[in-house]
Amino acid sequence: MEDLYDLHIHTTFSDGDMSPTQVVEAACELGLAGIAIADHDEVAGVDEAVEAGKLCGLRVIPAAEFSTYDGKADIHILGYLLDTRSEKLLEHLTKFRNARRERGIKMVELLRGMGVEIDVDSVLEIAGDGAVGRPHIAQALLRNGVIDNYEEAFRKYIGFHSPAYVQKYHLRPSEAFDIIREAGGVAVLAHPGTLRRDDLIPGFVAAGMRGIEVHHPKHDRHAVDHYKQMAEKLGLVATGGSDSHGGKDGTLLLGSCTVGASVIEDLERARSY
Ligand SMILES: [Zn+2]
Ligand SMILES: [Zn+2]
Repeated sequence: MEDLYDLHIHTTFSDGDMSPTQVVEAACELGLAGIAIADHDEVAGVDEAVEAGKLCGLRVIPAAEFSTYDGKADIHILGYLLDTRSEKLLEHLTKFRNARRERGIKMVELLRGMGVEIDVDSVLEIAGDGAVGRPHIAQALLRNGVIDNYEEAFRKYIGFHSPAYVQKYHLRPSEAFDIIREAGGVAVLAHPGTLRRDDLIPGFVAAGMRGIEVHHPKHDRHAVDHYKQMAEKLGLVATGGSDSHGGKDGTLLLGSCTVGASVIEDLERARSY
């Protein structure tokens, strides 16, 4: 069997429900040759996966999925083959975590100002090690009996345009390209078929992007063909991965979208630009 790699996997270090070790063990059982751990705005799960991978002969590629915003759309950018000790990268990730935390605290303050029963400590406790987000606030509101369901929390309080909503801190795509380059990595546009902004791609290439994610569970055959052709035309690496978040929704996507070993070689070549 050809060596297969799943290059887009989340763990408990962002919003996945499997630890890096659990992901590695499951990937070994599936017979994959390698995986990329690509948590949202986080590289802290990579080391654990690399160590677990050594035990079962699975190659683990260090990666992350950066949340960026260009003023109109949320754009996810994958960074592959990252030096997870890069100063600029770690500085950004710390800044990102702090900004999310401050945003959470601000929203709690707004809610308290409205007379809603909620406190900062319980929200931070619910968030645990992960970046503080609105679901954690909704959970605290639910626990205090302020609301009956999540939908109500977003509609009445923390949804976009609702009174306790606070804007998220975001990186611009070009900033993500710079951080990835400085960490010795390769920037790849995640799931362009869900973004539907092909017009942005030439500008991203000019700014340092070297690949696009061609194979993704949300890409149908037409989208795969389309982005494969675009990668060839623009000289970009054509990556792919399952975007697995574990098994919480009843379906384990891990290993459902893979690429061959030649893509790893393409990524290694692209980083020496
Ligand atoms: Zn994404
Ligand atoms: Zn993802």
